Amino acid sequence: MALKIGLVGLGKIAVDQHIPAIRGNMGLELVAGCSPASAPEGVLRYPDMGSMLAAHPEIEAVAICTPPQVRHKLACEAIAAGKHVFLEKPPAATLGEAASIAAMAAQHGVTALAGWHSRFAPGVESARNWMLARPIKSIQIRWKENVRQWHPGQKWIFEAGGMGVFDPGINALSILTHLLGGYALVRKAALHVPSNCSAPIQAELEMASERGVPIDAEFDFLQTGRQTWSIFVESAAGDTMALHLGGRIMEVNGKVVLDEPEREYHSMYEHFRRLVASKSSDVDFTPLQAVADAFLVGKLTNAEPYIE
Ligand code: NAP
Repeated sequence: MALKIGLVGLGKIAVDQHIPAIRGNMGLELVAGCSPASAPEGVLRYPDMGSMLAAHPEIEAVAICTPPQVRHKLACEAIAAGKHVFLEKPPAATLGEAASIAAMAAQHGVTALAGWHSRFAPGVESARNWMLARPIKSIQIRWKENVRQWHPGQKWIFEAGGMGVFDPGINALSILTHLLGGYALVRKAALHVPSNCSAPIQAELEMASERGVPIDAEFDFLQTGRQTWSIFVESAAGDTMALHLGGRIMEVNGKVVLDEPEREYHSMYEHFRRLVASKSSDVDFTPLQAVADAFLVGKLTNAEPYIE
C-alpha cells in the first residue's frame, strides 16, 4: 500500500520538487495539499492543515514545506494527530523547536525526518568515502548566490527565524556534517545583518571538525557574478577534492570524476518511505546546531539595508 501524504505549504519547493518526487514514487500517494493562498494546478487544496486532515483522515504523513517559522507548530499538531512528519530544511526556526519535534515524534511513535536534501546530491557519498580514506588537512566552503535571483518575494528569509543567508548556507553545513560524520564546531563567526532585517545577508565562519581539521566558510547572498555552491577539501598529502553545484559535481585533483543529474528529492522521499516502513526516524540537527552556534559566538555587524 502506498504511503498517503498531505503537503503543507504549496510554495516554490513544494511545486518544484515535492509534488514531482511524490508522484514519481510508486510507494507514495499525494492525497491533498494545503496553503493559505497558493493553489497549484492538479492538487486538491485546502486553506490550512486542520481542514485538510479533517477532510482526509486517510493521510498518514505530512511534508511541511512552509517557511521554518511555522514548522514547529504544524509538526506538533500533525504528530498529535498521529501523522508521520517530513520536515523541509531547516527542520525548525530554532534548535529547541527541532529537538521538541523529535521528542514528540518519539513519544507518539511516528516517524520524523529532518530533510537535508543536499545530503542526497550525487557526489556526496563518493566525497565522504574519499575523505574517510585519508587524513584531511583543511576544508573550505564557498556558498555564494544572489538572493534577488533565487528568493524573490520570500520576505520570511530575512525575518527572525528565517536564517537569511543560512537558508541556502545550511545546505552546505548539512553536506559538511555528513562528510565529517559529526559536529562542525564553530570557533568564530562574522554575521552581517542588513539594518532593516533580522537575519544575516553575509556570514564568515571559522570552524573545526571534532578531530581539529580547520574549516573556513563564506556565505554570501549578494553574489551577482558566478553563483557558487562549492566545498573544497585538501588532504594531508596535498591531494584535493571538491564538490561543486551543491554536490552534483565531484572533482579530484582538479579533474571531474563524477557529474550526474540531481535526484535529491526522489532519493529523500524514498528514504522517508523506508523510515516509515521500518518505524524509525532520522533527526540529525548538526547543521542547525552550527547555525545556532554561529549566533552564539558570532559578532553581528550592521550591513546596508536590504531592498529587493
Ligand atoms: P515559499 O515559496 O515562500 O513557500 C512557502 C509556502 O508556505 C507558501 O506557499 C505559503 O503559503 C505556505 N505557508 C506559510 N504558512 C503556512 C501555514 N501555516 N500552513 C500552510 N502553508 C503555509 O518558500 P519555499 O522556497 O517553498 O521554501 C519553503 C521551505 O523549503 C523553506 O524552509 C526553504 O528553506 C525550503 N527549501 C526551499 C528551496 C527553494 O529552492 N526554494 C529548496 C530547498 C528547500 P501561501 O503561498 O499559500 O501564502
